[in-house]
Amino acid sequence: MALRVAVTGANGRMGQTVARAVSAEPEMELACLVARRGCRLVGAAAASIVGDENCSITVSEFLDLESVDVVIDFTLPESSLVNARACAEAGVPIVIGTTGFSETEQTDLESTLYSVARCQAANFSTGVNLAYRLISIAAQVMGADSDIEIHEAHHKHKIDAPSGTALAMGHAMADSMGQSLHDVAQYDRSAQREARKHGSIGFSVTRAGEIVGEHTVLFASEGEQLEITHKANSRDAFALGAVRAAKFIAHKPAAAYTMSDVLGLS
Ligand code: NAD
Repeated sequence: MALRVAVTGANGRMGQTVARAVSAEPEMELACLVARRGCRLVGAAAASIVGDENCSITVSEFLDLESVDVVIDFTLPESSLVNARACAEAGVPIVIGTTGFSETEQTDLESTLYSVARCQAANFSTGVNLAYRLISIAAQVMGADSDIEIHEAHHKHKIDAPSGTALAMGHAMADSMGQSLHDVAQYDRSAQREARKHGSIGFSVTRAGEIVGEHTVLFASEGEQLEITHKANSRDAFALGAVRAAKFIAHKPAAAYTMSDVLGLS
């Protein structure tokens, strides 16, 4: 029997991309598509959003979990918390792609969801999650003798910098070298006139056009350079990773699963 999936954020960029990915997945059925209350899409045929005429549900303003196996949520922290409470009450696993939780909200989210299987990631792309592992290995092998620089590029609308993914890459490499990113990160060189500090991890950022997301980690050592690059070409990269995570947690015991667990990298 197909896995029955509820998707939130029907009018959002990620919500729509995830809904299309679920609908296109033979082992899944889009059982519920939720838009925020009062949104013009409420009551519309989900088929018009996912482009699948076999999809017979309409967009709802309620997250109806009665016949749902798993929820995929990419909205905003406030609504993700509401959806998480509903999942905890109904005992339904949840995949959370929403970012930007405050520390208090994150603590609230974790305590709310302790009784269900959940998977939360700031980046659901398979390639990025594999890249975390590859750069950790590279940092272990080459880090002590290399200058490490992370460059990331995103569209002009993005307001935070460096990206959460670039920071996660920095943490992954610092951890693998037994350091704290806080001690070795170099975010801005404009205020200093001195040579590069050995052992630092430098960050640089491009904001331009509609770039979906690019991250390159450079290891420059004596006589050679290694670059590991990931490029997301569309939001499908995140949606397909979230779909993979939903399949993985749907029938798992209550626990917090990571994308490393999903990809078999743990
Ligand atoms: P968006 O602005 O296009 O969509 C946000 C959605 O949230 C909309 O559907 C909106 O109606 C809904 N929403 C907001 N407040 C709500 C409320 N109170 N109740 C119900 N619904 C509410 O944003 P987006 O580009 O789709 O991104 C959504 C989230 O996913 C963001 O936090 C973004 O950073 C994150 N994101 C995560 C990944 C990842 O791989 N984890 C990738 C891309 C985006």
